[in-house]
Amino acid sequence: MKPIDLGFGISLIDVCDLGKENRTGTYVLHEEELTLIETSASPSIPYLLKGLEDLEIVPAEIKYIIVTHIHLDHAGGAGLLLEKCPNAQIIVHPKGKRHLADPSRLIQGARAVYGEQFDELFYPILPIPEDRLIIKEDGENLQIGPNRILTFLDTPGHANHHFSIYDPYSDGMFTGDTVGVYYTELLSQGLEFYLPSTSPNQFNPHAMLAAADRMENLNIERIYFGHYGMSEHPGLVYKQLRYWLPLFVKKGESIIAEQNNTSFEEKTDAISTALFEMVNDYLTEQNVVLSRDFTETIQLDLTVCAMGIVDYFEKRK
Ligand SMILES: [Zn+2]
Repeated sequence: MKPIDLGFGISLIDVCDLGKENRTGTYVLHEEELTLIETSASPSIPYLLKGLEDLEIVPAEIKYIIVTHIHLDHAGGAGLLLEKCPNAQIIVHPKGKRHLADPSRLIQGARAVYGEQFDELFYPILPIPEDRLIIKEDGENLQIGPNRILTFLDTPGHANHHFSIYDPYSDGMFTGDTVGVYYTELLSQGLEFYLPSTSPNQFNPHAMLAAADRMENLNIERIYFGHYGMSEHPGLVYKQLRYWLPLFVKKGESIIAEQNNTSFEEKTDAISTALFEMVNDYLTEQNVVLSRDFTETIQLDLTVCAMGIVDYFEKRK
């Protein structure tokens, strides 16, 4: 797949996290200071390099690599990519910096969750030298071209180490996972569909809704999602987030209340099944036919969502 030209000097490279297309993207901002946003995990780096080649960019031209947050499907490949980019620096949220400099806790966490699959999904996760890491606090800027200054916004909810990047030139926001996931596969069936991403272990529904409110107040025209692609209907994104997020949390809360003595896994399974039922019913009502592949994708995402919801309620106890 060739990179997609999104206008405003922005290209999207499909970096095929988990080997799947239309899932995880890297944005290229073609400016004097060439800037990338998101890297995905290390197995995605060959796709990223191929995309750069298609765009006739050599890695030495890259000046900044921004990661919206340090989850591995956004930043896991940053260290590996940096080895190929001698002139680049990584920009990260202040709360994410130390984990990129020393990824041992990230690795340990991922090994605990993914076990034997770790290597296939994430290897290698390389440390990033401190002098190549830049942090951006809420409201700080980054000039990447004569007419382009990006602004960083602290947007917790999905994770505490999450910022979003406002680009006045496109009047767009790079949101990572803050306001959810865009399932562009369903566009071919006439449905523009978004779901919240409530992954562990810092999910907070109130912060997530507050971040969406903050974006809405800025009246942006476009949202560039971590997963996947650009939406020109931000209003619909906020609307769907505000519809699904309370339903997810309420469903999770009631299942947890019923299953007082069950394990984390049992609660997660029950919630993930219930969320899938809810989403599936909705999509069926919209006359959407789910392919097997897409069903698997949604089920995987909802399982991760369920884990984050259980984790959120356990921490509140
Ligand atoms: Zn993600």
